[in-house]
Amino acid sequence: MSPRRPLLTLAATLVAGASASFGYYLADDAHKPGYKDTPHLPGGKWRVHDADRPQPPVVAPGAKAGDAPSDAVVLFDGKDLSKWRGDHGDAAWDVADGAIVARRGAGSLISREEFGDCQLHIEWAAPNPPKGDDQGRGNSGVMFFGRYEIQVLDNYENPTYADGTAGAVYGQHPPLANALRPPGEWQSYDILFTAPRFKDDGSVETPAHVTVLVNGVAVQNHAEIFGAVAFRDLGRYSAHGPKGPLVLQDHGNPVRFRNIWVRPIGEES
Ligand code: MG
Repeated sequence: MSPRRPLLTLAATLVAGASASFGYYLADDAHKPGYKDTPHLPGGKWRVHDADRPQPPVVAPGAKAGDAPSDAVVLFDGKDLSKWRGDHGDAAWDVADGAIVARRGAGSLISREEFGDCQLHIEWAAPNPPKGDDQGRGNSGVMFFGRYEIQVLDNYENPTYADGTAGAVYGQHPPLANALRPPGEWQSYDILFTAPRFKDDGSVETPAHVTVLVNGVAVQNHAEIFGAVAFRDLGRYSAHGPKGPLVLQDHGNPVRFRNIWVRPIGEES
């Protein structure tokens, strides 16, 4: 036996070990990162690190936080109300200085496009100096499917009932924090909304859920929505389709809105 044999054996063992540990470097489809021999994830469709699992679509993010990503549906970019209608025909709110202004008594603003599960970004500002108090100061609302309301209210140093404050699921869940800026300043909402699902008989299969960030602060964390918005009553569900409009509430106060965009959220593949 050559005296060098033990060294060669050792080297071969090390290479074999390395191959076992980093097998993807040696696989035939090394150009396709991932594995074909790992355990199946729950559901059985994909393996851990599955080489065949589709790549997520590329979405170019906005230049800065709050800017619309490349695949967003922009509902208002500071110019006009073409993406909206009113309760009775055309949108009757005003546009001034790059913002939508709620017009008292003009009814709701209703998006022409409908959405199901979605991500919403919207910015709003309450009148300054503030006028009114309690629920009468800077009140509006962001209503998914026109019926599940995330409250818009100037409750900055303006007490009212907790489940009616900004970022509340109105009448159901108070926000986990009051993260409002003073009236007149722009406030941002980033909302993830999961629509309810209904069975064929109209009963609820899964309720709606919502996650809300007010000015970047998490105030709802996958909160279950108990039903359509109601005043001094319990919200209830009535069956509806998989998509519905986004509605901005007319509550008689000239709240301003800007930079409104929505991304429909699909399911992972
Ligand atoms: Mg409201």
